[in-house]
Amino acid sequence: MPLSPAVRVDIDRFWSTLDRSAGIGTGRENGLSRLALSDADRQMRDLFVTWCREAGLEVTVDRVGNIFARRAGLDDGLPPVLVGSHLDTQQNGGRFDGIAGVLGALEMIRCLNAAGHATRRPIEIVNWANEEGARFSPPMTAAGCFAGEYTVHWVHARTDDDGATFGDELARIGYLGNAEPGGRPLDAYFELHIEQGPILDADKVQVGIVTHAYSSHGFLVEFHGETAHTGPWPMELRKNALIAAARLLVAVDDIGWDFADTGGKGTGARLVAWPNKAGTLSDWAQAVCDVRHDDPQTSDLMAERVIRAAANAAAQAGCTAQVVDRWDWGGAIFDAGMVDGIRQQAARLGYSHRDLPSQAGHDAYFLARICPTAMIFTPCHGGITHNNHENATPADLEPGLNVLLHSVVAHADRSPEPA
Ligand SMILES: [Zn+2]
Repeated sequence: MPLSPAVRVDIDRFWSTLDRSAGIGTGRENGLSRLALSDADRQMRDLFVTWCREAGLEVTVDRVGNIFARRAGLDDGLPPVLVGSHLDTQQNGGRFDGIAGVLGALEMIRCLNAAGHATRRPIEIVNWANEEGARFSPPMTAAGCFAGEYTVHWVHARTDDDGATFGDELARIGYLGNAEPGGRPLDAYFELHIEQGPILDADKVQVGIVTHAYSSHGFLVEFHGETAHTGPWPMELRKNALIAAARLLVAVDDIGWDFADTGGKGTGARLVAWPNKAGTLSDWAQAVCDVRHDDPQTSDLMAERVIRAAANAAAQAGCTAQVVDRWDWGGAIFDAGMVDGIRQQAARLGYSHRDLPSQAGHDAYFLARICPTAMIFTPCHGGITHNNHENATPADLEPGLNVLLHSVVAHADRSPEPA
């Protein structure tokens, strides 16, 4: 039996669940500072696992800290439909980013339980570890490992600013699981996320259907120079790594401006230096930056300019530059059939909707490399995000949550493809 369109999420139940999450790892007013693998992340994970078990789900954790919560299917040997996002936040994060997608998947399960609807295929909720990359670089670390891009060993060796490793922190918070990440058949992956941009809110459209992703290139660049006295040391002999990194970040901002008229972005996100003290030139600096554009070729061009800018910045400051980490994603990665299915469900449920690209990074990009994948966006006020003023109302989220519910169920219930 197909799920009746009269079955809808319980928005009050969802909202009180989201409110509980918003009390864990609080940051600035109304915001969250729930960095990956912190004590607050552990507390949130524990609560999420409790909720999943109460909903009758079977919970497993893999070796990079991803949590899976499975609801059996009528034909339980079929590959599962995966639905989720992330529960970690930025340092000055909001209460919706990622969280709405994980807790929305939980609401979907609660709804199916209440309706007594068993799906043909199993459904698994997933919480991906360290999506934000705010504590451990790069972002979407554990989804990347699940998709086979990174090894478990490499992920475990990532360090935070205090030298703590990903692997040790996972063990410390009790989420170093046994399951091998990935390497198993998946039917599909769905992710609901707040838009993190202003389009849906400005156009008063209820549901965003993500057709493709901005092509993005991120870089972690290290510069090496020499410490020296800031007074007597001659300008022509200086090797100030701090200045090399600063020059790169300004250059990346300039690249963003050069392509701004066609929607391009260039971001200088982080600069750290050592010793970073008055009186001494720094002999080491790290810069994190990225460029992105809707057109992949333009984005590639911007990335080439970043590489050249790093070499120029190093040369001008008498230093050497090395790209230590690089991450690339985007393009036409979403499954056309799933995208169309989401459109049909939005229309069937009577919601206004529009197609749009995703400009932020998402775990879904890695999943798209290993299984059919699609994303649903919900409006958020003014597109404000990665900011404690990130905001949305129940009315902003309810349509997207219902579209997620019905899209996932329709996909999980479809007839098996003939062999
Ligand atoms: Zn997110």
